[in-house]
Amino acid sequence: MHRQIVDYALARRECLARVRTGRTALSQVCDADPYLLRAAKFHGKPTDEVCPVCRKEQVTVVSWVFGEHLGHIHGSARSAGEIEALDGSAGAFTVHVVEVCRTCRWNYLVQSYVAGLPEGAGRRRRRVAK
Ligand SMILES: [Zn+2]
Repeated sequence: MHRQIVDYALARRECLARVRTGRTALSQVCDADPYLLRAAKFHGKPTDEVCPVCRKEQVTVVSWVFGEHLGHIHGSARSAGEIEALDGSAGAFTVHVVEVCRTCRWNYLVQSYVAGLPEGAGRRRRRVAK
């Protein structure tokens, strides 16, 4: 039951354009930390999309769930199956979908949405500092 879907494709394209023209340093966008890289390895979902920066491998998407009522799951990366299970059982929570390249460490928030049962909806949305 995904809702309030926000797509960051346009911002991502603009960011990549800035990288290509040298206005943004690679080090600023290819900065996935070890925690994110590990999450990509263990909870990520492979895609067919080649990394827009290094073009050496396909990016992996990692979904992070946010909702204080989720307890220890709050702020952690979860697989698609786990999110589906939560969607049908937990109160409203926010999901941030981040694409990650495990070769050059490019990472970008590509989508966010609210899932879970409608009760308790309207929680404050968290933003990833980027
Ligand atoms: Zn890459």
